[in-house]
Amino acid sequence: MEERKSEVRQVSCDEFVELVTAFLDGAMDEPAELRFLVHLSRCGDCETYLEQVKQTVAMLGELPETRLTTETRDHLRCVFRSLRQG
Ligand SMILES: [Zn+2]
Repeated sequence: MEERKSEVRQVSCDEFVELVTAFLDGAMDEPAELRFLVHLSRCGDCETYLEQVKQTVAMLGELPETRLTTETRDHLRCVFRSLRQG
């Protein structure tokens, strides 16, 4: 059991997924972005996911200046689920 204190609250993979769109939007504040990057550096699945999202966004077109639509977010979640299922 590790009881090492962490200065940065870690995000779960689910939270990471929620944060990806904000990250790509540049809509994230610094503390949130730091947590996002910490998770990214430690989680290979999410690193892969982020790459997949980037590719998906590229396929959908340029990253919109406004926030991603709910539809797009749902689609990205589907991509994530399929990745997790291997
Ligand atoms: Zn993760």
